[in-house]
Amino acid sequence: MSPPSAGTGTLFERIWNDHVIEQGGADDALLHVDLNFLHEGSFLAFAALRKEGRSVRSPQRHFAVADHYVPTLGRERGIAGITDPEVRGLIDLLESNAAWAGIDHAGIDDARQGIVHVIGPELGLTHPGMVITCGDSHTSTHGAMGAFAFGMGASQVKQVLATQCLWQRRPKTLRVTLDGTLGAGVGAKDVILALIGKIGAAGATGHVIEYAGSAMRAMSMEGRLTVCNMSIEAGARAGMVAPDDVTFDYLHGRPFAPKAQHWDDAVAMWRTLSSRADARFDREVSLAAADIAPMVTWGTNPGQALPIDARVPDPATANPEARRGIEAALAYMGLTPGQALDGLPVDRVFIGSCTNSRIEDLRAAAAVLRGRKARIPAFVSPGSTAIKREAESEGLDRVFTEAGVEWRASGCSMCVGTNGDLLRAGERSASTSNRNFEGRQGRGARTHLVSPAMAAAAAVTGTLTDVRRLLAGARA
Ligand code: SF4
Repeated sequence: MSPPSAGTGTLFERIWNDHVIEQGGADDALLHVDLNFLHEGSFLAFAALRKEGRSVRSPQRHFAVADHYVPTLGRERGIAGITDPEVRGLIDLLESNAAWAGIDHAGIDDARQGIVHVIGPELGLTHPGMVITCGDSHTSTHGAMGAFAFGMGASQVKQVLATQCLWQRRPKTLRVTLDGTLGAGVGAKDVILALIGKIGAAGATGHVIEYAGSAMRAMSMEGRLTVCNMSIEAGARAGMVAPDDVTFDYLHGRPFAPKAQHWDDAVAMWRTLSSRADARFDREVSLAAADIAPMVTWGTNPGQALPIDARVPDPATANPEARRGIEAALAYMGLTPGQALDGLPVDRVFIGSCTNSRIEDLRAAAAVLRGRKARIPAFVSPGSTAIKREAESEGLDRVFTEAGVEWRASGCSMCVGTNGDLLRAGERSASTSNRNFEGRQGRGARTHLVSPAMAAAAAVTGTLTDVRRLLAGARA
C-alpha cells in the first residue's frame, strides 16, 4: 500500500485510491477486492460462473461459511440432522461449490463456523486497509477494523469470483463524531440506534461513514463491529473506524493474522491508516455519548427508534409527509399513539445475529440474567462456534440456562429466519438483530430492536424495560 494520498485526506479516500485499477469517469472506478466472503446465498453466482465456463480467479481471496440456513438446534447431528431437503441442499451446495473452486470453507461441523460477519474478524481474515465484499448487506461490519467493506448482489458476486475486481461508484463521506462517555447500561447498539434515529433510515444514503471521537476510540472492537454493522441501516454504503491499538490487540494471534515480522510490518503500515487532521468530509454529524439512553425501535425501520423512556409518536402531531409512515408502522406494530415503550409486553426474546452475538454481547446479557428468571421464551445463538465455546468456558451458558433461556448453536437464526427460527404472526420480540422490517422475523411478526442488555431485561420482566433499573438492583 502506498503512502497517504493527496486529496481530501480521509481514511476512505486512502483505501479507495489504493485499490483503483481503472478509472471510468469522474466517480466510477474498477476496484481490486482483497477478500470476498461467501455464504449459502452464493449458489446463483457459482451457477452463472459455471454456465459461462469461467473459473475463480483467486480462490485464496475468498472464504465460505454456512450460516444463513444452519439450524440452531440439533447441531450435534450435523448435516444429517437437517430434515428439510431444500435447506440441506443449500448447505451441501456451498460446500461443493467451494470444493470445486478450491475455496476454504467452514461448513456446519467446522470449528470455525459462525455468522460470516462474526468469523471474518474473529479468524483474523479481515485486516485494516482491505477492500472486502460479500453478497450480504451487513458486510459493512468489517469496516470496524479499518477496511472498506460493502455488500453486493449475486451478479457482482459472480464478477468478483471471476475477476477479483468490481466497478463501484465512489460514495460521499460522512464523519460521525461521538465524544464523551456512555452511561451505565448504554452500549454500541444504543449508539447506532441513536444515530439512525437522529439521521433517519436513509440519512446516510450514498455515503461511507467514518466513526470518530473519544467515545469511539474508547469502544471495544466488539462494539465497533456492532456500530459498523448497522451503518447500512442508515443507508450508508459502509461504516469505518480507523485502526488503532484496540484493533491490533484484537487481531494479534488470530489464525489468519500476519505472524512474526509480517505482523510488525503490517502494524507499521496499518498505523498510517487514518484520516488526516485537516481531512474534509462531505458531511459531519456529532453525538454526545452522555446524552444517549438505552434505545428501542417502535416501528418498522431502524430509524424509528427512541429512548426506552419515550412514548410512541403521535401521527397527528407529525408533518403530513411523515404521518402516513407513522400510521402504517403503528398499525403493523399494534401500538397506539403516545403509548409508553417501557412496560410494553413482549412475547419472545432473541439474542444473536451478526450485530450482537459476540462474547461481549453475551456477557452483557448474562450480567442482567444472573440470578434472575426469564418470564417469556428466550434463546441465545452465539455468533460463532468459537464464541459458544468461549462463553461455555466462562460459565455463561449456565447463567442463561439457569435463567430459563435456551442456549443454542451459532447461525443467522431469528435475524432472518431462513433456518426456520421464526416468530408466529402477531408475536412481539425484543431482538438484538438489525432489521425490524415487516415480516423480517416471520409473517406478521413485530420486532423491537434492542441491545443485548435490554433484551435480557425484557426476558426477565416480560416487557420492554429500562435495563438501568435492573442494573441498579431493582427486582424484575
Ligand atoms: S445475522 Fe442477519 S444480517 Fe447478519 S449475515 Fe445473517 S441474516 Fe444477514
